Amino acid sequence: MAMLDIERDYDAIVVGSGITGGWAAKELCERGLRTLVLEAGRDIDPQRDYTEHVPPWDMRFRGLGNRRAIEARQPVQRRSVSFDELSHVFWTDDVDNPYSTPADKPFDWFRARQVGGKSIVWGRQVYRWSDLDFEANLRDGVGVDWPIRYADIAPWYDHVERFIGVSGEALALSHLPDSVFQPPMEMNVVEAAVRDRLRAKFHSARRMTIGRVAVLTQPIGERAPCHYCGPCQRGCVTRSYFSSVSSTLPAARATGRLTLRPHSIAHTVVYDANSGRASGVRVIDARTRIEHEFRARVVFLCASALESVRILLNSRSASFPGGLGNGSGTLGLGIMDHIKWGGASGVIPGWEDRQTIGNRPNGILVPRFRNLDRGSRQSGFIRGYQFQGGAGRVGWEGRTRDPGIGAEFKERLTRLGPWVMSLAGFGETLARDENRARLDDTLRDAWGIPTLHIDVAWSANELAIHRDMTESAAEMLEAVGARDIVRRTRPSVPGNTNHEMGGARMGRDRKSSVLNGWNQAHEVPNLFVTDGACMTSSACQNPSLTYMALTARAVSHAVDSLRRREL
Ligand SMILES: Cc1cc2nc3c(=O)[nH]c(=O)nc-3n(C[C@H](O)[C@H](O)[C@H](O)COP(=O)(O)OP(=O)(O)OC[C@H]3O[C@@H](n4cnc5c(N)ncnc54)[C@H](O)[C@@H]3O)c2cc1C
Ligand code: SF4
Repeated sequence: MAMLDIERDYDAIVVGSGITGGWAAKELCERGLRTLVLEAGRDIDPQRDYTEHVPPWDMRFRGLGNRRAIEARQPVQRRSVSFDELSHVFWTDDVDNPYSTPADKPFDWFRARQVGGKSIVWGRQVYRWSDLDFEANLRDGVGVDWPIRYADIAPWYDHVERFIGVSGEALALSHLPDSVFQPPMEMNVVEAAVRDRLRAKFHSARRMTIGRVAVLTQPIGERAPCHYCGPCQRGCVTRSYFSSVSSTLPAARATGRLTLRPHSIAHTVVYDANSGRASGVRVIDARTRIEHEFRARVVFLCASALESVRILLNSRSASFPGGLGNGSGTLGLGIMDHIKWGGASGVIPGWEDRQTIGNRPNGILVPRFRNLDRGSRQSGFIRGYQFQGGAGRVGWEGRTRDPGIGAEFKERLTRLGPWVMSLAGFGETLARDENRARLDDTLRDAWGIPTLHIDVAWSANELAIHRDMTESAAEMLEAVGARDIVRRTRPSVPGNTNHEMGGARMGRDRKSSVLNGWNQAHEVPNLFVTDGACMTSSACQNPSLTYMALTARAVSHAVDSLRRREL
C-alpha cells in the first residue's frame, strides 16, 4: 500500500548515507536546508556495533568466520578483502539483494547496507586527480570528455581534505597533486630502504611514498589520532579514520536540520512532468514493507554507483520510458572498476633483527609512471596504473598450513620469517559503452524491486596494463635486490577492486551524457547524482576523494541555484 507522507516535506532528500551521502547531508544542512537522508540499511551505534579491538581468541570462529552461514547468505560479499568474521555484519545479504551477470562475465558487486555504507569498511586511500586524468578521454578519443578540469575541483579537494584529515607526504608531482596533508605515517625500515634504492636506480621516474590516507595522525576536534590497532574494517571507536558515521553525519546532525531515516529502501525518484522536476522519492520500509513517498525541492542520489543507476532505471515514466534523465540513452553505460592484482612480491634480505610494532593501517604508494609524457609513452596501452603495497615480516598467520604438529610446530610459528616486499597494481579502466548495467527482466530483490543485470569485461587495454604491472613490479623488486620474486599474473574479477564507477556519466552534451558539469541531470535540473555513477573515466587513483569533492561542489551549486529560484 502506498502512503503519501506529506507531513514530512523537506528542502532536500539524500538517498544513501555512505561516503557521498554523508557529504551531501553535511553540506546541505550546513547551508541551511532541512535535509532527509533515506538509508536502506540499519542505524549504526559505534559503541554497540564496532569490534576492532576484539582479539581472534574471543571470536566464536577464531577469526575464520561461520563458513557455512557465510556461504549460504554472503557468497559474493565474502570475496572482499575487508570481509571477516566480525566485519561481515557490515555487508549486504546476497540472497535478499541479488543481481545477475552473463554466465561468462562474473562481476563482484560489493555493497555495505547500513548507515555509513562502505565508509565503515573502505581502505581510506585518498588521491587527487589531475588534468592528466580529466583530459584523458578527450586526448584519446575514448567515451566523452569530462565537463570539468582540475581547476574546477581543486578548491573542493582542499575543502574536503581539511575536514576528513589526510595524512601523507607532499611530492609536488603534477600528475598526482598534493593534498592538504597532516604529517605522514612512517615507513618501516625495509620500505624506507626500498624507497632509497628505487630512487638510486630510477631517479625521479619511479618514486615510492607512504600512502595518502584518510586516517588522522593529529586530532581533529573529538577525533583522535590513530593508535595502529589494525582491523579498521570493523569500525573505529576513536573516530580516527574518516567515515560518515564518525564525521559528516555528526556535523549534519549538529545543525538541527538532519532527519536520518534508516530501513528506507528508495526504489524510484518521482518525476513531475508538469514542472519538469523531481518531486520526491519513493521508498519501501525494509521492516514494515509499507511504501512511503517523501517530497523535497532537490534530490541527491548517493546510493553508490550501481544502486543509483538502478534507482534511475526503475524511475520510468511516460516522459522517461528508459529511466529518469535518460534522454541520451546512456544511462547504465560505461561501468568501470580498476583492474588489480598485477604485481609481484619478493624477499628483501637483511633486517632480521627488526620487526614492526602495531598495525599501521596504511601501505606505500608508487605513483603512476606510464604514459605521463612522451618519454614514458607505451605502445601497448593507453593510460596507466599505480602500485600500493608494503613490506612486512612473514608471521604465523601465513604459515598455519605448514606441515607440523605439537609444541615444536607452535614454537616454529613464533619465529618471524623474512621481510617480504609486495607491489600490487591498480590500473585504469576505459569507459566503454559495452560495459553496461540494465534492469534484469525478471529478477527482483526481497522487497520486489527490479534488480540489475551487470555486463562488464576487461578490454585488451586493461589486460595489457595488467601484464605491464606485473613485469614492472618484478623489475623494480629485482632492482632493489629482492630474491624469490613471485609474479601475480591473474587479473581481478571486475568489481572486485570495490571501485564501481560510471553508468550516469558527466559530460558536456545532453545527447551523450546523463549529468552536466555540476552532477546535475541535464533533463531534471533538481536531480543530482554525486556518487561514482557520475564518473566519465576512472583514472587509476582510488576514487572516493573525488566523489566527496564533487558532492560538496554540487551541493554548493544546488543551494546557490535554489536561492536564485532556478530549481
Ligand atoms: C573493501 C573496500 C575498500 C575500499 N577502499 C577504498 C580506498 O582505499 N579508497 C577509495 O577511494 N575508495 C575505496 N573503496 C571504495 C569506497 O568505499 C566507495 O567508493 C565509496 O564508499 C562510495 O561512496 P558512496 O557514497 O557512493 O557509496 P557507499 O559508501 O557504499 O554508500 C551508499 C549508501 O547508500 C545506501 N543505499 C544503497 N541503495 C539504497 C537505496 N535504494 N535506498 C536507500 N539507501 C541506499 C547504502 O546502504 C549505503 O549506506 C573501498 C571499498 C571497499 C568495499
Ligand atoms: S588502526 Fe587506526 S584508524 Fe584503524 S581502527 Fe585502529 S585506531 Fe582506527
